[in-house]
Amino acid sequence: MKTYEGGCHCGRVRFRVTADLDGVTYCNCSVCTKKGFLHLIVPPQQFELISGKDDLTTYQFNTGTAKHTFCKVCGIHSFYVPRSDPDKIDVNVCCLDGVDVTTLSIKQFDGRNWECAIEKKVPWR
Ligand SMILES: [Zn+2]
Repeated sequence: MKTYEGGCHCGRVRFRVTADLDGVTYCNCSVCTKKGFLHLIVPPQQFELISGKDDLTTYQFNTGTAKHTFCKVCGIHSFYVPRSDPDKIDVNVCCLDGVDVTTLSIKQFDGRNWECAIEKKVPWR
């Protein structure tokens, strides 16, 4: 595992995450598609918020399980609490410093058909 730093666009929100980038997933659901979010789900002990706690705000919809946190200044969703794993943190790989996402092998999650995809245990982490 490797430690990465990342954050939002304006730099207020900064975090550190320790993980492998071999479980990066693209989700085709309504919100992830529009955000362009690339998912990397880690246990909370592998995630550390360095700064920006007070600059985060949360968008919730549908079941309300997912907590879509984003920077209220620049609007970037750099990490959030996912519906599939509400006890974990889902980091946006696009927000990691020095990571070229075009070199990653990216899995697909059929979030548009969420219940079905979760039951089939489609690769997700
Ligand atoms: Zn920001």
